[in-house]
Amino acid sequence: MDVRRHNAAFCAPCFTRHCREQVKRAIDSYKMVAPGERVLVAVSGGKDSLALWDILLELGYHADGLYIGLGIGDYSDESASFTREFAAQRSADLIEISIPGEFGFDIPTGARAAKRAPCSACGLSKRHLFNKAALDGGYDVVATGHNLDDEAAVLFGNVLRWDLAYLGRQYPVLPGGLGFARKVKPLVRLGERETAAYCVLKGIDYIVEECPMSAGNRHLGYKEALNAIEQTSPGSKAAFYFGFLERIVPMVQPAAEEERGGLHPCPGCGSPTVSEVCAFCKLVSRAAERG
Ligand code: SF4
Ligand code: ZN
Repeated sequence: MDVRRHNAAFCAPCFTRHCREQVKRAIDSYKMVAPGERVLVAVSGGKDSLALWDILLELGYHADGLYIGLGIGDYSDESASFTREFAAQRSADLIEISIPGEFGFDIPTGARAAKRAPCSACGLSKRHLFNKAALDGGYDVVATGHNLDDEAAVLFGNVLRWDLAYLGRQYPVLPGGLGFARKVKPLVRLGERETAAYCVLKGIDYIVEECPMSAGNRHLGYKEALNAIEQTSPGSKAAFYFGFLERIVPMVQPAAEEERGGLHPCPGCGSPTVSEVCAFCKLVSRAAERG
């Protein structure tokens, strides 16, 4: 397996060790998880989140999984089976929340009712439910499978719009407190080609199909643009993202802090929000009106 940005090639055992080391390095350098803390891993059944869960377990963390059923047809059914299979093989604890089962709507219907793009309705629901499950379950931290390609693409989009509040929040660790669990992204030092190879080498079955709602998602376009640059200049993606963390984040973090200052508990669910009612409660009530 060659990793051009490191100008290195690895045999199978060295490659899986390399992946574990990159995760450990990210956890240590950004102080993501302290020894003995309980981690809730947001798992989707895809390569990134299952690789993350596997690596955290191998590194000896107390890491349970959280799977959220989105009600997106066969895609959701299959991703749930891959997640359950992974948990069963490792005797790991998996918490499941079904949006259709508990809130009475699926993501495509909820998005239409709230006049939102499906990924926007899905993203806000997942953020809300991950946070709530972590606080309710007494977890110290929520870990998500965002990798270097994801983070570089999000950064690219935020820079195109010079969205300072989003840029200020785009850090691999978001602190807990004020109704939020700490959130961490331990895969930021690994690309998606690496997490896919890790799963293949470890015999981890994952859902290969993209979510059908992702068509037209602008992040896919940003990823393609960055892949074209990376092809001719290996290492550009990492330089773009890590240069941002080092040099720009300290300048833009105050914009995000300011927004955090305006938070209050949502009257519907108690979650922190800057609006009168939180976005998830709004989505639930719009979906109920329509249903
Ligand atoms: Fe949700 Fe969009 Fe991802 Fe599908 S592609 S799982 S709708 S965020
Ligand atoms: Zn609410």
